[in-house]
Parts: sequence; structure tokens; C-alpha cells
Amino acid sequence: MFNAFKQPDMKFKVNGCNRHSARNTIFAKITTMSIKVIAFDADDTLWINEPYFQETEQKFVRLLEDYLPGHSISRELLQVEIANLSLYGYGIKGFILSMIEAAMKMSDNTISITVIEQIIGYGKELLGRKIELLDGIEDVLVQLKERYRLVVATKGDLLDQERKLKNSGIEHHFHHIEIMSDKQERDYLKLIKHLDVRPDEFLMVGNSLKSDVLPVLGIGGFGYHVPYHTTWAHEQVEHKIEHPNFRQLENIKDIIPYLLT
Ligand SMILES: [Mg+2]
Repeated sequence: MFNAFKQPDMKFKVNGCNRHSARNTIFAKITTMSIKVIAFDADDTLWINEPYFQETEQKFVRLLEDYLPGHSISRELLQVEIANLSLYGYGIKGFILSMIEAAMKMSDNTISITVIEQIIGYGKELLGRKIELLDGIEDVLVQLKERYRLVVATKGDLLDQERKLKNSGIEHHFHHIEIMSDKQERDYLKLIKHLDVRPDEFLMVGNSLKSDVLPVLGIGGFGYHVPYHTTWAHEQVEHKIEHPNFRQLENIKDIIPYLLT
């Protein structure tokens, strides 16, 4: 559904080498020659994140199932979270407050302090989760940093993202860490200005088409999408992207042939 990359025509195989695919690779290399900075999204691009949120949401659903059926609890929670985004931003603290608010709403303000205490406990557990890097990420960073300036561009709570980076063991591969309140075109324009590069010198790699890819393509940069099996409902977009600066990757390791020869 997101595959914007035309599959090479297999009937043009010459001497075991696919002519179209070779041409595509050469074309991709020429168009990416201007790239100087590669920015990585963090959550579900460098390390596991969304499954932890979903586990917490499941606990929240079980806690409140006396009030509503499970799918209605999740829907209510999502609505509260989205309504609160502009106030709290992205991250665990906002998620905790939204769970409390949703619990109050669903129980008609009759929820007990014990339940609220439990919700806060779930949030603290989430804040204390161990960092699990995604497969192959460190090897990719080690290779790319020889030729490119690597940065992290992530949303979320400042303290939480700093803690995760510190505990990830990969912080030293990056020149700069940007914790953004949002990832819209204007936020990326600010970032590239700060990094002192042109849009066509900037590549963003991430698991969210909506936050990591579309706004960067919109300002004239490069956007590579590495999907993660789970994406938060609010981050999902369903359309096909056709853009010369866009690549759809299966795995983070697939980035290497495009950027290193
Ligand atoms: Mg992400």
C-alpha cells in the first residue's frame, strides 16, 4: 500500500544483472549525492516503543472493563489523547494524564483514587522500560557516520527521550539530538536551519509516513520510510507516495546501498 518504488521489470535481465534495477540504483545514487545530514526518528526507528504503549493501554483497558467494552475504552482514550496533544505534546507524561482523564470521563467521575494510583503506576513502569534497539541499527549507524552527519530528530518528553538516548548506548554516533515538540514542515525547516544545511542536503529516516516522511518531502528534503509492525493510530496515513526523494525500505539495513557505494 505504501510501495512507491516501481518494481524493476524482470524481463530485462542481461548477464544475470537486471538492467532496470541497475539503472534505478544509479539514479538513486545520483539523486542522493547532495545528502549531508541523515536524521533518524527514535521511537520505533532506533528502538522499540509503540508495543510498550500498547501493553500499557491493554492494562488500562482491563482496569476499566467494568465501565465499557474494551474497544470503546481504547477509542475513548485515543480521543482524549488527540484532544490533549496540543496541550501536552507527545510522550508518556501526556499519556498518563490522558489515561486519568479518560478514566474519569468513562466512569462519570466516579473512578476511585486506587484506580488513579494504578494508572500512575503504569505510567511510571512505562518510563522505566529498558531500551531495546531494533535489529541492525547500530551497524547501520557505524557505517553511515563515516560519510554523513547523523542526528536524532524525535518527538516526546524531553527528559524521557534524553534518558532513552543515554541508556541506548548509541548516543555517541550522533552529532546532534533534536527533541521536537512536533514534526511538521515548519519544525523541520527550523531544524535544517539550525543544522546549517539546505533541504536537499537533509534525509529523514523513520517509521511514520505522517511525521517523518511527508513533511520532509514537503520542504524539499529526502524521506525514507522504514515501517514498524505497530504504528499508533494517530500516526497512520494510507496513501501511496510517489516522489523522487522518497524510498520505501523493508528494513533499516536496506538504506546502505542507497547511501554508500
Ligand atoms: Mg517513530
